[in-house]
Amino acid sequence: MKKIEIVSPAGNMEKLRFGIKYGADNIYFGGSDFNLRVQADNFTNDDLREGVALCRQNGVKTTFLLNSYLHEEDIKNAESYIEMIAGIGFDSVMVSDPGMMILLKGSGIKADFHLSTQMNVLNHLAVKFWMDAGFSRIVLARETSAEEIKMIKHHTGAEIEVFAHGALCIAYSGRCLLSRFLSGRDANSGDCSQPCRWKYSLMEEKRPGNYLDIIEHARGTEILSSKDLCLMDRLEEYIDAGVDAFKIEGRMKSLYHCANTTRVYKHAVKLAGTLEFNEKLPFWLEELDLISHRPYTNDLFNEFGELGFHGIPYIKKASFAGYRYDGSYAAEEIKVKTFNPVYKDEVFDGI
Ligand code: SF4
Repeated sequence: MKKIEIVSPAGNMEKLRFGIKYGADNIYFGGSDFNLRVQADNFTNDDLREGVALCRQNGVKTTFLLNSYLHEEDIKNAESYIEMIAGIGFDSVMVSDPGMMILLKGSGIKADFHLSTQMNVLNHLAVKFWMDAGFSRIVLARETSAEEIKMIKHHTGAEIEVFAHGALCIAYSGRCLLSRFLSGRDANSGDCSQPCRWKYSLMEEKRPGNYLDIIEHARGTEILSSKDLCLMDRLEEYIDAGVDAFKIEGRMKSLYHCANTTRVYKHAVKLAGTLEFNEKLPFWLEELDLISHRPYTNDLFNEFGELGFHGIPYIKKASFAGYRYDGSYAAEEIKVKTFNPVYKDEVFDGI
């Protein structure tokens, strides 16, 4: 049976270490520039070297993100940046902008090229086009159905990656001007302020300042906000369709999110096609429910069809206490790094 990769996010070195520990096959991260999460901690050049070396020692692949879009004024800086990172030794580089691809090819970098979901690839002709341009893996648009993936695979044999878990945009594959319009921060340069998650009120034009709340749930409303993606209960269907790699979204999400999703999806992919998969499925879904998230959808494609975006409150069922970072399980004393206040017998959140 072919190996199906779990591609996990790392917003910093700590998350990268946990990605390795919890079973990631491929870890993606960005440097100081030109990736789509400029607000993430991101990696210094020293971190990049250390991260790649650590992954290599543990047999984990690395994907470096250079997937922002370039304006004319960015080209020179991008060229120098590529020169600086070209020798680090990433297994692959994730790209959206064809201009970036031209710069990368010109640099002589030795890495595979992966096409970002931002390029909205939905059909086999587009896949062929990008393969001809030198991409070895295509991350399909999140709107691609399992049936379409099957056809794409049949016509091209391309290496296909899809998003399995994490936040979704209401805009087409994240191509969105809301953030730039409302906060001056450009989503397509990696600086989205997520205004689709903000709360909005209604105001009649002749009554300025008289805001009427739109109530969809106890905390108000998030009328533009989408559900989160969770493909877990359809994982086998996507594997049958020919998916080669499942990506977990969330470089800016918590350490717990990165570790838990990686562990659960890795286990599920291993057991796919066996009777044990169905036995374990309720447990995996329960585990994924512990991560703070919006209500899950397992099908963005139909989600749009059913106009299924209602007021969607955040779900937070558990708090991450922390992890043991020094001392063995048998030791009398261990050191724990905490992420929430911990009291005897209980963990309190938000105090
Ligand atoms: S504002 Fe929302 S929909 Fe638009 S890019 Fe940001 S997260 Fe996506």
